[in-house]
Amino acid sequence: MKIACAAIALVFAAFPAFAQNVKITPVGSHAGELCANDRAIIFEDPTGVRFLYDPAHNVTGGDDPRLGAIHMVLLSHMHGDHVGDLKLKAPGAGSCANSERVPAPNSTTAEVVAAKNAAMVMTRAMGGFVGNKVLAIRGGGKPVGFCPQTGGATIVPVAAVCASQTDLGGVFVAKTADAPRGVEISIVYASHVNNAPPALLSEAQRAQLKADGAILEYGPATGFVVRFTNGLTVYLSGDTGIHTEMKTVVHDFHKANLAVLNLGNNPGIFLSGEYVINELVKPASVILTHPNEPVTEGGTPRPASRTAALMKKLKSESHLALSGRTMEFDGKGKCVAGC
Ligand SMILES: [Zn+2]
Repeated sequence: MKIACAAIALVFAAFPAFAQNVKITPVGSHAGELCANDRAIIFEDPTGVRFLYDPAHNVTGGDDPRLGAIHMVLLSHMHGDHVGDLKLKAPGAGSCANSERVPAPNSTTAEVVAAKNAAMVMTRAMGGFVGNKVLAIRGGGKPVGFCPQTGGATIVPVAAVCASQTDLGGVFVAKTADAPRGVEISIVYASHVNNAPPALLSEAQRAQLKADGAILEYGPATGFVVRFTNGLTVYLSGDTGIHTEMKTVVHDFHKANLAVLNLGNNPGIFLSGEYVINELVKPASVILTHPNEPVTEGGTPRPASRTAALMKKLKSESHLALSGRTMEFDGKGKCVAGC
């Protein structure tokens, strides 16, 4: 018995990260690939806290079997490709360059929140919009309230859909009942715009905006910094151009050791990404997503892709957000399995 115990102790000593890793699983349009419209990612803390970041056009609905338990939904901004004005017709539908999607009039974000009875972690302005859509899905009911807190933390799973009551700069802590500490989620700045897709607005609102050539913004667009219980500190950039807080807040203050970087065309990150990662954020590792181009074929990057070209310039270890692949990260931001 003593020998068996010693052997087990040795095994644990050899793998000190055992069961202390954060699991990160992208949910995209095509299994095993990084495709043009891919954005959504599931995170799981070692204590069991699980959340979905930007449901986007990547889920087939709130009942998408790839999701599993979801305690919180994080939304960076209101653009249709994030809040989800369309949903994936089926995993693998369409091409990697242009996945086949169908309308989601209540948004995929609200569909997942409603189906999972999740906490909405986003600015109050966006929470107001998504909360309304949850009521539309349910055909009425009580307005969504703020998440209950005990000792500064919300215990997940929550009993009913609730809103984080946080704004830009705010912090939300989510904790399982028996965990010694929680997962800390800070909302950080993004250099972007935050207008809602017209298809998700009321007819009256649409007409009014059209008359003035206007857009409807729901407060600032955002990113997040998430500190997991094993020490892993992840910067979720959201859609953003380069900005100074990537150094002062994300690197200097939060000391993020993993960055999930949205590429895409509008924010210019294909051009600034090298400087953003190597000089400002300086994480141990980077996960690349939101490519707006089909990056991989058979799971390996196409050499001609802009994403592959950027990857070559990054000093941090970089990984592609391949759909359905679970990567495990230790507290120092190093991928220890699945990469
Ligand atoms: Zn986007």
